[in-house]
Amino acid sequence: MTTYQEKLKDPRWQKKRLKILERDHWSCRRCGDTKSTLHIHYRLYENENPWEIEDDMLLALCDRCYKLVELRSRYRAGWYGQMFGS
Ligand SMILES: [Zn+2]
Repeated sequence: MTTYQEKLKDPRWQKKRLKILERDHWSCRRCGDTKSTLHIHYRLYENENPWEIEDDMLLALCDRCYKLVELRSRYRAGWYGQMFGS
């Protein structure tokens, strides 16, 4: 089984990621930061590949906002361990 980390290295995801960053003008959708490292926030469901997610479900977020939003949603979804377990 492919791990979450391995999936993020997939060229299909890398391409999608760039597309979202360009769409969001390389700035954080939450606070507008353009100087920090940007991440893509999404809701990942079990067995779903990140590159198959609808563009509308993806958001460019700065490091700070990403951590805030991701931690909140992952904790709620119950897959905190999957992300930080290994
Ligand atoms: Zn931000």
